[in-house]
Amino acid sequence: MKGRFAPSPTGVLHLGNLRTALLAWLFARSAGSEFLVRVEDLDVGRVRPGFAERQLSDLAALGLDWDGEVVSQSARGDLYSAALSALPVYECFCTRAEIASAASAAHGPVGAYPGTCRGLSAAERSARRAERAPALRVDAGGVEVAFVDRVLGAQTGFVDDFVVRRNDGAFAYNLAVVVDDAAQGVEEVVRGADLVDSTPRQIWLGRALGCPELSYAHVPLVLGPDGRRLAKRHGDVTLREVAPSAALAWMGASLGLAGSSPSEMLAGFDPAAVSREPTVYAG
Ligand code: GLU
Repeated sequence: MKGRFAPSPTGVLHLGNLRTALLAWLFARSAGSEFLVRVEDLDVGRVRPGFAERQLSDLAALGLDWDGEVVSQSARGDLYSAALSALPVYECFCTRAEIASAASAAHGPVGAYPGTCRGLSAAERSARRAERAPALRVDAGGVEVAFVDRVLGAQTGFVDDFVVRRNDGAFAYNLAVVVDDAAQGVEEVVRGADLVDSTPRQIWLGRALGCPELSYAHVPLVLGPDGRRLAKRHGDVTLREVAPSAALAWMGASLGLAGSSPSEMLAGFDPAAVSREPTVYAG
């Protein structure tokens, strides 16, 4: 079950991200599988120079290793373009405010794209293009997609006509992640539970592109003492402030695993025993 960890270089990895990385590594290595690291640097507005290198050195400092070269999404635009041309897409000129104030899609949940731009004529589209660059949405039509998560169990979600290329020209996260997982031969996605809602869309895209089905494990988040998702504002939460040995000791204790390094923790690791409950890091 080839696995991967795919951080976005928008900050220093904190103990929540590092614990997810450790779990992704444990899932892969306990199955005797390869483990990849991928830099997800498509969001140019949020990526900061130096963070990718820092993230890789923090993973290495914990004793996590990976196979092959680290690829960066910013260098893979041709792959995403090729995938885009194989998908049913349409141009969308809606602003966020317009979508928020529109009625929801028929039988779709609140916030689902109602398909406003799906039926525009060629003449309407060219008139609108003069005012605003379009985003591209897939014509998914509003379907339910179900899957079984290795940690969370049975899941289901509604797939609306979601954006695959933003109106600033950037390829959307959902498209890039599906294309890369398939191109890199990834078999199992282990990531934070905050991304579980993206999974039905990614499964839909994978099917539309003819990619092999993946296995998913969404692992619980780490919370701060205030019960909110761990973040920089909680204080000393990165390897700048916490020594790798102390970080590993906390992660091991929170997972009920003995050992002072990832390879020592491997012996006691059972994917089926990973808790669904978030963990609090109190510092
Ligand atoms: N790059 C995403 C993030 O840092 C994770 C993508 C994934 O694991 O699918 O939140």
